[in-house]
Amino acid sequence: MSQAKNKLPRVVIIGAGLSGLPAALELEKIHRQDPCFSLTVVDRSPYHLNHACLYEVATAPIELSPAEYGALADGTQVKLKSWSYIFPRANLNVLQATVTGLDLAHRRIHFHDHETLDYDYIIIAVGSQPQFSNIAGLAQNSRTLRNIPEALRIHRRLNELIAAAEHQLHPIRIVVGGAGLAGVEIASQIQAVLNRIITTGKIKNETVTVWLVESSPTILPSHDHWTQTTTAQRLRRLGVKIITGQAIVRVDAQQVILADQPRLDYDLLIWTGGIQANTLLQQLGLSTAGHGQLCVDQYLRLPEHQEITVIGDGIYFLDPVSGRQIPQTAYLATAQGIIAAGNIHRTIRQRQLKPYQPKHLVYTFPVGGRWAISIIGGWRLSGRSGWMVRRIVELDHYLSILSFSSAIKTWWRGGRVYLPKKS
Ligand SMILES: Cc1cc2nc3c(=O)[nH]c(=O)nc-3n(C[C@H](O)[C@H](O)[C@H](O)COP(=O)(O)OP(=O)(O)OC[C@H]3O[C@@H](n4cnc5c(N)ncnc54)[C@H](O)[C@@H]3O)c2cc1C
Repeated sequence: MSQAKNKLPRVVIIGAGLSGLPAALELEKIHRQDPCFSLTVVDRSPYHLNHACLYEVATAPIELSPAEYGALADGTQVKLKSWSYIFPRANLNVLQATVTGLDLAHRRIHFHDHETLDYDYIIIAVGSQPQFSNIAGLAQNSRTLRNIPEALRIHRRLNELIAAAEHQLHPIRIVVGGAGLAGVEIASQIQAVLNRIITTGKIKNETVTVWLVESSPTILPSHDHWTQTTTAQRLRRLGVKIITGQAIVRVDAQQVILADQPRLDYDLLIWTGGIQANTLLQQLGLSTAGHGQLCVDQYLRLPEHQEITVIGDGIYFLDPVSGRQIPQTAYLATAQGIIAAGNIHRTIRQRQLKPYQPKHLVYTFPVGGRWAISIIGGWRLSGRSGWMVRRIVELDHYLSILSFSSAIKTWWRGGRVYLPKKS
């Protein structure tokens, strides 16, 4: 692609997810005051997806009208073309294309479905992908929850199982492998949905089992003690059977085999037990740690290539307070996007950069129905109040990326379609 005539530094953001989109919007804001660079935002998907709502798509109430079915996806993903109103000016572009590799020496991006694009500064925000830890049979027999089609596959299977159980043809045995945020969310919500159906008498309590299996000694291993114990209590109250300290060692079409427990028969196995960096990052040949994440400096840049900033799930960054790798959460991803955007501008203007300091001031996740854990600064909330805070945080996210009316519409859809009537 001919870019030789463009004298402005070319900034490219790859990935418009929970870290890349805030970076893009922040750079666009800076550009309005100081148009000293060009900006291109690239994503392979036409949508910006909020993963934290996928569990709701997977477990939506089964009695949905066709219109509600159509709306299922729209409460958790937002069309990227919604941002075309933000980027209509010269030097600000949105491009839907899949990046296949980077030529670091020539600062060039290669695509599967587009001509190459040159850059001066790049923010890589391509997220993560499931990791199956070489467990035999796991990838073939489990379902993952990373996007809308995967959520709908789980939804379909769940409905088949519910229908069979209503006719007393089969029990419902569900195993969720991995008790991080995604595992806790989906296991608790499936149990909450099944509990509701049990109260109607359509299926019998004794036919339902939801297991949550975690190889670490506790659930939510990267969270604090209060969060772990409060969440475990809620899960048990719902009826989820928790197994910790047990690794899944093998899976076949009917059973999950644990290190030293009896085998678990299953009808639906959902794997949320690990993520690794996106393949794109792993194939760059740069220093990685953890699960293929790229090691970044205090400004979130690659030490070997300071023109490259990496943010979101793809980075390996040790928390200076705990000395542990920071967790992969939406809040941290968004904060990294904003700091990265500011630092690119500071670099162009040759100003002092701001170091990244991970502050986990806000995080929130649901644990079945209208019940959530929410932590805001020093405040810890659980239950219905935690749920209300979660909805406010969700609204705040949509308001930060959409126009006021689109944000309200998207947020309202989520609440109207997915929420169970009781929790
Ligand atoms: C099921 C689930 C539930 C979760 N629940 C919570 C929660 O309740 N609370 C919480 O704080 N966090 C939660 N998280 C974690 C949170 O969603 C992630 O930490 C966050 O999305 C990471 O942001 P990111 O920008 O790195 O990646 P993403 O948000 O995944 O964005 C990556 C973007 O890059 C694009 N992309 C990828 N590869 C390419 C390519 N080759 N070319 C072009 N574009 C590409 C993708 O299309 C995507 O838009 C959850 C995650 C999952 C999977």
